[in-house]
Amino acid sequence: MIWGLYIHVPFCIRKCPYCDFYSIEDISSKSAYVQALVREISMRAASLPDAVFDTIYLGGGTPSVLDPAEVAQILNAVYGEFSILGDAEITIEANPGTITLRSLKEFRAAGVNRINIGVQSFNDDNLAFLDRIHSAKQAADALDDAKRAGFKNVGLDLIYGLPGQNKGSWQKDLNAAAAFFPAHISCYMFTIEDGTKMAADRDAGKFVPLCSDRVSAMFARASKFLLSKGYEHYEISNFADSRQTRSRHNEKYWQNIPYIGLGPAAHSYVEPERFWNCKNVDQYIETILSDRLPTQGSEGLAASQMMIEALYLGLRQADGIDIAEFKRRFETDFKEKFAPVLNRFINSGHIELDSGSCRLTRRGLLFLDTVAAHMAELI
Ligand code: SF4
Repeated sequence: MIWGLYIHVPFCIRKCPYCDFYSIEDISSKSAYVQALVREISMRAASLPDAVFDTIYLGGGTPSVLDPAEVAQILNAVYGEFSILGDAEITIEANPGTITLRSLKEFRAAGVNRINIGVQSFNDDNLAFLDRIHSAKQAADALDDAKRAGFKNVGLDLIYGLPGQNKGSWQKDLNAAAAFFPAHISCYMFTIEDGTKMAADRDAGKFVPLCSDRVSAMFARASKFLLSKGYEHYEISNFADSRQTRSRHNEKYWQNIPYIGLGPAAHSYVEPERFWNCKNVDQYIETILSDRLPTQGSEGLAASQMMIEALYLGLRQADGIDIAEFKRRFETDFKEKFAPVLNRFINSGHIELDSGSCRLTRRGLLFLDTVAAHMAELI
């Protein structure tokens, strides 16, 4: 099996009020972080002599706050220490407020071959609500510049279901996104995570979340529209213009393929174990300076937990749950085990089942959690 490598860059110019990923606004420790990361790369590689990788994903946080020379240093260390296949997908997430044509060219020269741009919306009111550091114009320029810099594999993220958003304004965002012909589009439903500033603003009555029916209609609109534009809806939030431009890295998360996470707060998974790094940049640097791995915790997954995860992750994907693979992993006949639930949701039009796989229909995708939870009750 070919593994994935994730690198967490824990810096953002300004924290978005809805975000619960680990990142800090003080970037003064950036170069110490890069030095520590390079050291972690060599320590981890020494403990994984047989692992071979074909994806490297710089995520965050905002990886594009790194200087291109720092990205080159990180990738050189990765190539020097790990076994990386020649056609590896090397992605950087970029915030439109942190890139220029020049930096994009230099990321490309450093070996990055896929860029995912956090557009979120082409509407300045939506961007103001999300407190993003960039304007719609900057987002559009970033997409143009990425292509001018030589990126063929360009993706963008959109958020839908924002307070005040209606089907017309969402359609404008979809039209604007499609007009750039990106290879990949992610449409994320706006969610308010507990403990974020956005949750406090909602609780203080500063805005009223959109009702779930309208959000569901936006999901259906995105799926229908992007399919009409030639994209495949290959995962609940993700669209690709071909099978080759699916996020190969993210597919590892959904398909039970091992991945190693480096950097503060990064998670790793090597069946049946999950482990994660400490969630603090200073502690991360200090731990590595004292020649210790920054792993903070781990858990071994029981077979029942892995089976539940296989349901949720499989049903997120258009390809669905591979029935033969399920039998191989769990020595369990999928159709027999879940027969009562399968029959019910096939009859209601939420599930499609054939000899090879079990998939949610487009309508069924709206009920992913409900269907998966009913199946999980049978485990
Ligand atoms: S830029 Fe991205 S990672 Fe940083 S705070 Fe905003 S959403 Fe979170």
